[in-house]
Amino acid sequence: MEDTRSRKELRRAVAEHEKALEQDHRRPHLTTLRMSIQDRTEPCHGGASHLHRLACGHTVHTEQVSLCRRNCTIPVTNFTPFACTLCERQKMIQFGRINYRSSSLTELILPNFPMYDQSHVPVMMRARACDIAVVTSSKHFFVPSTPEDIAAYRVNDNRRLVGLIEDVVDVAKDMGFSQTIVNGITDGLTTSVDHQYLWVNATYEQLAAVILYLSAVQAGIEQSGMLSQLSMCFGASIKGIKQLLPAVSKLLIDTSARFAIANFMRSFEKAYPAY
Ligand SMILES: [Zn+2]
Ligand SMILES: [Zn+2]
Repeated sequence: MEDTRSRKELRRAVAEHEKALEQDHRRPHLTTLRMSIQDRTEPCHGGASHLHRLACGHTVHTEQVSLCRRNCTIPVTNFTPFACTLCERQKMIQFGRINYRSSSLTELILPNFPMYDQSHVPVMMRARACDIAVVTSSKHFFVPSTPEDIAAYRVNDNRRLVGLIEDVVDVAKDMGFSQTIVNGITDGLTTSVDHQYLWVNATYEQLAAVILYLSAVQAGIEQSGMLSQLSMCFGASIKGIKQLLPAVSKLLIDTSARFAIANFMRSFEKAYPAY
């Protein structure tokens, strides 16, 4: 009980910091660390590191240098896995054990989630405890432990998303989409970000490119070369976009009837039989 209360207090502290940061137009300071071989923070480097990249796409941090395990990207099968708190939290949301709307990374790093309980698992079989690590660039990460850092990350992330949505709307208008479709595109992007756990490694820019593309196909304004145009526009690789296409389109069918992508799926399959 004591524990639940302190987690709630931490959550409140995050909210207070966020409020203060939002009033300030400067970019919030975030204490990130560099991934480096010298500091042993290059993920899974040489099979022993502070940082491990897991098969689920998440990254974890351990206080001491630790060996790779069963669920590292290059698995070491005879070790029990790392406990991925982000995956556990996402499952809590998915199965309705916790009342959260979104399972975006910014939501999953909040401190008021129930503890990941392994007490029913025999000690030898328990997943190894570790910290969540958030990768902020190709060479930087941070371990969300203080309310200040969590708030700074959340405010930064939200500003980035708001800016991206503005860009997407501009691009969509330039491409001649109607206002209804533009609204659908911004809804679709928000939905996809809320379901970020489905494509852990995808950037917001890639999601935006996919949604614009799918909307263009749906609206029948598909042109040759559009994929490469979008990929340049959002700095998203065509390969990345193609990998995301099926998952995003499925999500949009499942969660937003307004998109009515089911309609266009038939023509889409004809145009892109590989998907
Ligand atoms: Zn590893
Ligand atoms: Zn995970």
